Amino acid sequence: MQLKVYNSLTRRKEPFRVSPDRQVRMFVCGPTVYDYVHLGHARTYLAFDMITRYMKFLGYKIQYLMNITDVAERVVQRAEQLKRDPLELAREYEVAFLEDMQRLGVTQVDRFERASEAIPKMIAQVTGLIDKGAAYETETGVYFEVDKFPRFGQLSGQSHEELGLRRLELCSSKRNPEDFSLWRKYEKGLAWDSPWGRGRPGWHIEDTAISMAQFGDTYDIHGGASELIFPHHEAEIAQAEALTGKIPFVRYWIHTGLLNVEGRKMSKSLGNMIRIRDALRDYTAPELRFYFASIHYRQPMVFSKSGLIKAKRKLDRLLKNLNSFLDAKPVADSKARNTPVRLGRYESAFKQHMNNDFDTPAALSVLEAFADDLARAGPTLNQQTKTRLAGTFRSLAGVLGLLS
Ligand SMILES: [Zn+2]
Repeated sequence: MQLKVYNSLTRRKEPFRVSPDRQVRMFVCGPTVYDYVHLGHARTYLAFDMITRYMKFLGYKIQYLMNITDVAERVVQRAEQLKRDPLELAREYEVAFLEDMQRLGVTQVDRFERASEAIPKMIAQVTGLIDKGAAYETETGVYFEVDKFPRFGQLSGQSHEELGLRRLELCSSKRNPEDFSLWRKYEKGLAWDSPWGRGRPGWHIEDTAISMAQFGDTYDIHGGASELIFPHHEAEIAQAEALTGKIPFVRYWIHTGLLNVEGRKMSKSLGNMIRIRDALRDYTAPELRFYFASIHYRQPMVFSKSGLIKAKRKLDRLLKNLNSFLDAKPVADSKARNTPVRLGRYESAFKQHMNNDFDTPAALSVLEAFADDLARAGPTLNQQTKTRLAGTFRSLAGVLGLLS
């Protein structure tokens, strides 16, 4: 019963294989800190939290790194609107983000790294790409030359012709429309000194610089929302592989599906977002976690209040069953039966579903049935059996973060 993970790069479920010491190095794209995070972010970060918890449950040792995008056009624009210092503003939203994650029980990230504190690493990578002939400087910045990287389009499954239709970063000084920026020249505002004058890094190089400084030229998992596949992650692969010549840059690419509201994705720009902190006023973290776990992480999900209420009711029932099991008076040892065989089967059923690319909806059904069964069997079990089954239930529910 081996863990299988859907890899966006190969577009299939693959057996999850890492080095024999079971070390897993995972990088997940962090937030751009220019506003409060919303339930779309919650969905992604809860998915990777659950993935990390499950891998630890299986005995993997995970190093989980996340960047904080505090250097970005959106941060600069918002700061200009508010007449604030961009990094100061970013810091406030970073604090709010970390608070929201803490309250959701998203606790598995080992290290956060801010883009603003990794600028020398980015400059080193851009310099390296120019030296390799993969990037060029113009009067507006430094650009990655996509024609020099034939595998561009591999992750998003786009042909050269299709890519030519995508106009990225309109700028007349680029050699080709699909070239993307590694460094942008800015005399004023949020800017650092570089071999190309003052400026700031492009978004894509922030993540390769941060992740490769920690994990080396290649690593195990890179995650993020599916909307980041193109151009962000496609560009990351191009940068890393053009720089090191090592393929693949990342072995498993894992992407979460969009959260939609009334047919459109939840986003700040569409004005349909629900902040995590507002949702946490009406629902507990375990209720929100149950709700998101009830849809597979890769499927697009339509947000609905009725769905949330349904999840809340199911969790209530699960906890009620657990409590009634725990409260049942154990029978004396001499009269106790052995653990009913069926109660021993839930753990393997749970693992079987989770091993199938983290099928949390099916795993949740197993937990619900397990809790029902425990409530029924409680009065027939001795203390030792009860303690053991309670421990099993807690560790499985803990993978999904359902018990506060
Ligand atoms: Zn990223």
